Amino acid sequence: MSTRTTTGTKAPGNPARTGAAVAPELAKRLARVHGVMFDIDGCLLLADQPSGYGGTVLPGALEALEAVRATGRNFVCFTNGSFQTPSAIATTLRELGLEVRDDQVMTPAVVAAETMATRYPGGRVMVFGGEGVTEPFAARGVQMVDQDQALAGRAGEVAAVVVGWDIEFGREKIVAAAEAVLAGAELYTTSAAPTFASHERLNVGVSGFIAAGLTHVTGRPYKVLGKPSAEAFGAICSRTGAQPEEILVVGDDLRMEAGMARAHGALGVLMTTGTNSREDAGEAGVEQTPDLILDSLEELAALLQEHGAPMPAPTDEETP
Ligand SMILES: [Mg+2]
Repeated sequence: MSTRTTTGTKAPGNPARTGAAVAPELAKRLARVHGVMFDIDGCLLLADQPSGYGGTVLPGALEALEAVRATGRNFVCFTNGSFQTPSAIATTLRELGLEVRDDQVMTPAVVAAETMATRYPGGRVMVFGGEGVTEPFAARGVQMVDQDQALAGRAGEVAAVVVGWDIEFGREKIVAAAEAVLAGAELYTTSAAPTFASHERLNVGVSGFIAAGLTHVTGRPYKVLGKPSAEAFGAICSRTGAQPEEILVVGDDLRMEAGMARAHGALGVLMTTGTNSREDAGEAGVEQTPDLILDSLEELAALLQEHGAPMPAPTDEETP
């Protein structure tokens, strides 16, 4: 993390703009936004714990959510943490004063559960994680196998190993998972984020830590199902009812949010209130360059209000 600069300063060599005055093309794209994805940690709030354990709401968060509603758009709050269930996270957000329904919170565990149910119907899945992971899986009827079942000679029957936020795993579980992967199970993780934004402590991303370890042991790659994956982005589209180009992705992590927006044709906003700074964005590759860099969600609220009327999709005859 490097030092932040003042609002309105353009990063060297970075095309992203900030402030109320945006380029006509960007204004046009903002006006087309129908669904907004808000990251939670480092974007809506700052905490020392994974999402769902309180924290401090960042300035403008209430106003930004209200601006989305007032302009007839939909939103989802999408954390890349899978420690808590969506309903537990939504409860925390409401306790902090943010008006968010349970079904407006997404976690990568939800994406993983939906992916497993679709990709391996009736298949057995070994899961790393607590209630934040197992609840979405159980709700979608995914058959979960624990380490004892896997170790009891059934590893070959495991279709996939999904690694979420698990702080109680031990050697036996790693052995069972590694054997399952070597026997042919696909390896997935809810998140490969090395860290999450927090007040002070280094908030280590446990899921990616375990998944990388299993890859180290087995030589098999892991696939990410949380941000910035196509699966995660698809879930955002279906939750908000928006097309890819009608999605605005708002977050503090260039790899997660700006990268996801770039990869899938959405509009990406970097908030400088968490992991990455304006300087980081200037140094990022084109595949992680945000369309906008903002220092406060108050600025985003103003932009959503200013460019608030969703416009019809442009026709072929339309000129820029
Ligand atoms: Mg974040």
